[in-house]
This record gives sequence, C-alpha cells and structure tokens, in this order.
Amino acid sequence: TLYLDNSATTPVLPEVKDAMLPYLLEEFGNPSSKYYSEAENAKNAVNNYRENVANLVGCKSREVVFTSGATESNNMIIKGVADYYADKRGKHIITSQVEHPAVLETCRYLESKGFLVTYLDVDQYGRVDIEQLKESAEENPPLLITLIWGNNEIGSLNPIREVAQYCNKRNILFHSDATQVVGKFPINLEDYPGLRFLSLSAHKLHGPKGIGAAIIREDELGLPTKLTPLLHGGEQENGFRSGTLAVHNIVGFGKAAEIALQNLEDNILKLKQNEEYLCNILKEKYNDRVQFNHSKENKIPGILSITFPGVNNELLVKNLAPYVAVSTGSACSTSKPSHVLKAMGYDLEHIRSTIRISMSPEIKKDDLDIFNNL
Ligand code: PMP
Repeated sequence: TLYLDNSATTPVLPEVKDAMLPYLLEEFGNPSSKYYSEAENAKNAVNNYRENVANLVGCKSREVVFTSGATESNNMIIKGVADYYADKRGKHIITSQVEHPAVLETCRYLESKGFLVTYLDVDQYGRVDIEQLKESAEENPPLLITLIWGNNEIGSLNPIREVAQYCNKRNILFHSDATQVVGKFPINLEDYPGLRFLSLSAHKLHGPKGIGAAIIREDELGLPTKLTPLLHGGEQENGFRSGTLAVHNIVGFGKAAEIALQNLEDNILKLKQNEEYLCNILKEKYNDRVQFNHSKENKIPGILSITFPGVNNELLVKNLAPYVAVSTGSACSTSKPSHVLKAMGYDLEHIRSTIRISMSPEIKKDDLDIFNNL
C-alpha cells in the first residue's frame, strides 16, 4: 500500500535505526552513571544528539527536556505551569477549540480542578483570531496561552509569531504544540522571544515512537522558565523530568532531527509539489464531487483535508486500505467526529465524508498516479 498517513506517524529511517542500534547493545550504560565507558559514551551521545534537537528549533541544548512524546510534553507544560503559577498569576488559561486531545483533555482536567479555560473560536481554516485572543487576555490576564502551531488535521498554521510578540510585551507565558510543524516548516526560536515552551515528538519526523521533547526556554537572566514537574524522582533533565534517559530513543530523535534539518527546504518543496499534484488529480477526476477544507497558503505542506459529499469516510478509508493508507482524521480521536472541522463550521454530514491525507517527501508523483485508477 501507499502510505499516506504521515501525520499519524512515520517509519524510522534506516540511518536513524543504524544510529540507535549501538545504544541498545554495547553502549547500554545509564547516562547518569560515571567513569566507566558504557556510561560516559551514553552520556556523550545524549549530549550530542540533544544538540541536534535544539538545532532543529533554534534553541539552546539545555532548553531541551526529553519526554516520552508530545502528549507528555503537553501535559507536563500545561499542568506544570498551571500548578506553579496558580497562586501568582491567577487561574485563567487561553487555548483554542482545535487543539490536539493532549492539550484539550489536559485543559478540561484543569477546569475540574478550578482553573478557568477559554477555548478560542477559529476561522474556516482553523486559525485563531489574534484580536479575540487579545480581548480574552486583557479581560482576564492568563497564566498561560497554549496554541497548536500547525494543525494535525488540516495543516493550518496559527499566527504564532504575532501571539509570541504580544505575549512578550505583556509578559504572558506562551506554549505551542509544534508536533506537526517541525521538519516541515523552519523554526528558529530566536525569532520568537515570547514563546516560552514547545512540544515536540520524534515519530512524526522519521524518528522512533515513545520519545519527544518539551522545550523550556530560559529567561533573559539565563534561568529556565519555572514549572512543577510531572514526574518526581532522580532529578534527571535538570529536575524537570525524572527517569532514566531512553538513550537509544534520544539518539534516534537526534538523528532524525539532524536529517530533517539538512533536508528541510527540499522536503518542503517536495511536500508542496505532492500536495498540488494530488489535488489536481482529484479535481480533474471528481470535479464538484470533491471539496478541499485545507487552505492553500499558510499551512504545513502535505496535509490535506478532503471531503467527498455523500460518501461515508469510514467506508472510504476501509475500502482504500488495500491500496492507500489514509485516515478519517486524527489517529488520536478516530471514534469521534472531528472537533477541528466542527470548530471550523462544518456540519456532521460534511465531517463524516471527510478524509485526511498526509504526505511524505519520499512519495513520488508516479506513486500518486494510483488515484487515477481507484
Ligand atoms: N500533538 C499533535 C499536534 C499531534 O499530532 C500528536 C500526535 N498525534 C501529539 C500531540 C501526540 O504526540 P505523541 O504521539 O508523541 O504523544
């Protein structure tokens, strides 16, 4: 089958696997141990590969905190900031209606603990309105604003730079879930002074599953932004995230990050070309029997949200499965109709006829010609 569900996950690259293997075998040491080579080599590997992850988003190595993935990073940052600052900065959190469940459910949990959460509306492409955000923030200054950078269902990019500038001016803590954008959009955190936290995941950029990072930026004085850790214990990762480091996974993440950065421009171009090529095939073949929900611009290339009115999306995805692997939406909420499309203003009928296609730069035009014959 032609795999077109790269927003759900991606295969590990052979180079990534090769980099990881020694750290499962001979270099198996605990990087927190000392003196003997197994430990020192593991520690050096963690340091080196941490730098690759930092380079991918333009931050310092010591601002990278390894976690088990973006779900944990989102939980850690949002709950950790809420817990640490509740007494100092009030109990208001601003987010949007189109966040990943790892953010939405964390916010709902915090609501049950007495926090007040504002879920901003989005426009027809799933982007928040900065004026509405400012209004909400002026009315009740939030202890945290958390917004998805690039949406996992429709690819739209939020106005992160503008929000970061605003948060910087107003001294508001700002987090963004950047899981879907890294490797598909250039990010240099030096250009986003108000953006204090990022969530990342390795398995969306051809790294292994079960590893991600929380980027916790330092302030002007070089002090890390404060938050209460989710996991207490041996104080690894500067006390932000206790637990023995998953060295092989960190190596895999770092290698994947290095390759993604090297190929960034080329990959973006290929993803754009693939998106355009497939949209043209579908337009020609189905005319007005196909609708595109994603915007043309200001989006992550290669994520397509496509509606075939009157066609049941579950059945369509199932029938396509022997030939092409696509999804009805996010893999994290397949049983429910998409909350993202709903927030964008679509009705249930439209949502139940919508599929998501997410490309990889490895895909060739010839591969996509299969859609002519389906
Ligand atoms: N946030 C977004 C935007 C995602 O797309 C995903 C993956 N579906 C996650 C968070 C969760 O990432 P992980 O699988 O690493 O927990």
